[in-house]
Amino acid sequence: MNKTGRRPIDRKARLQIPRVPVPKQSPEERIFNFHEVYEGYDEETVVIEATRCLQCPEPQACMTACPVHNGIPEALWLTSQGQFFAAYDVFRLTTTLSEICGRVCPQEKLCQGSCVVGAVNAPVYIGKIEAFLADYVRKHGGPDLKPSRKTNHRVAIIGSGPAGLHAAEWLALRGHQIDVYEALPKPGGLLRYGIPGFKLEKDTVDAIIERIEGLGTRFICNTRINTPGHPSIDDLMEEYDAVLIAIGAEIPSSLRTEGEDLPGVWKSLEFLIATNLPPKDLPPGTHIPEVKGKKVVVVGGGDTGSDCVRSAIRARAAKVTLSYRRSEAEMPGRKEDRGFAREEGVQYEFLTQPIRFIADEHGHVAQIEIRRMQLGEPDASGRRRPLPIPGSEFIIDADLVVLALGFWPDEKFIKQTPDLETKKWGEILVDPETAMTSRKGLWAAGDAVNGPDLVVTAMWGAQQAAKSIDAYLEALDQPATQPVDASETVSAVA
Ligand SMILES: Cc1cc2nc3c(=O)[nH]c(=O)nc-3n(C[C@H](O)[C@H](O)[C@H](O)COP(=O)(O)OP(=O)(O)OC[C@H]3O[C@@H](n4cnc5c(N)ncnc54)[C@H](O)[C@@H]3O)c2cc1C
Repeated sequence: MNKTGRRPIDRKARLQIPRVPVPKQSPEERIFNFHEVYEGYDEETVVIEATRCLQCPEPQACMTACPVHNGIPEALWLTSQGQFFAAYDVFRLTTTLSEICGRVCPQEKLCQGSCVVGAVNAPVYIGKIEAFLADYVRKHGGPDLKPSRKTNHRVAIIGSGPAGLHAAEWLALRGHQIDVYEALPKPGGLLRYGIPGFKLEKDTVDAIIERIEGLGTRFICNTRINTPGHPSIDDLMEEYDAVLIAIGAEIPSSLRTEGEDLPGVWKSLEFLIATNLPPKDLPPGTHIPEVKGKKVVVVGGGDTGSDCVRSAIRARAAKVTLSYRRSEAEMPGRKEDRGFAREEGVQYEFLTQPIRFIADEHGHVAQIEIRRMQLGEPDASGRRRPLPIPGSEFIIDADLVVLALGFWPDEKFIKQTPDLETKKWGEILVDPETAMTSRKGLWAAGDAVNGPDLVVTAMWGAQQAAKSIDAYLEALDQPATQPVDASETVSAVA
């Protein structure tokens, strides 16, 4: 037995164990609902799948590839022994959002993509195991979380996406009073108002928020910081000991193409919110698109594009096409989602670029003029640049168009924040170690810093910010910390 209680294993025999499939909804079934595709492991199957882990010696490739360096081999060992709570606790040392990351992380490019088993067999289904553990613990009463102490410090977090949620939970467990300001009616950021239910059901997001509220954190919704009638950053900096900006990057890019403003041309997030959320959670003034029976064209090859086409299918569109200006090999979105989309009836038009949206006699979008592209030399992103093929233009019918082209941080918010330095494209500049911005006492994390990226990288930045805020608060006023009864102290994320 080694120091973590793991016994020697027969690695050759383990390599031969086939991957345990995760039950999932068939395409015929799932196109009629917004529930998650995967139904998840159960207590028996998860043990078998975890047993496939080879318990590699350090440095383990899966841990290195995970942006937050989850202790995957140890968690999988404990899972294989049926110790689900203990296994979940290992994940919690580095993440508060296992139920999310287990579902939406691109594991095939991260932990699973590096799994040594993958050289001869299907890699261990690490994400599905992580999601099982988080769900199991939630179903059995949730993790037993209590702050390790109580301080008199107050922290304001602006934005309640994964960065804001992770920092809120982590800092609340360190005993600080946390207020999270959120522009939209409910907390969750893109976990609620972006990623569709077929990837992540909203009750999972609700459960996380309830858990964080249980630590005394307040979510102050319908409050857009730095806009008229709402507090400014300076107001918050005066009122709180530390402030974290976690506002994401949700300003949509534009194609700068004729007809882009026509009725019937939707921005991706507006479309996803309107098609996915129950009416009670919709932001005021949300328009609901008529999708049923329509010919829908989605433009853009990222995760957002995949989510839009699959939402359109579920909203009963007659035909759904995705147009992407490069080839499939350059597509940034998850391959698995593309496979699902194809199974659900989505058609792909690679190497195509809309150059004009054409209105019908009522002024509504009806057609798109499209140009064919070819690939040139790699650009700054390392992907081959799409170049127009002269004379290749053609017209297709489209009575609903969704632009899923990428996002920028909110320039207006940044301009309203004095002395905040930014990078070339408006991402907030932070110290790479501490995540503090150019202003003392002000931190930033998530897509607002990285540009549009991933849940797990948003969480990683939030973790750096939270640790740095905690150290800053301790240094600010040591006597403000009051010890609590040691019997109340339970280990948590830190
Ligand atoms: C459609 C879609 C699908 C995606 N799919 C995946 C996926 O499968 N896997 C994955 O890892 N990543 C995915 N992503 C990316 C991922 O969702 C983001 O990287 C992540 O949510 C960023 O977290 P964040 O906390 O920085 O910002 P966000 O989640 O964007 O949250 C920011 C929050 O701040 C609020 N806010 C903004 N301005 C203010 C203000 N002035 N005052 C108060 N509140 C404010 C916003 O309303 C929002 O709630 C997807 C993104 C999109 C758009």
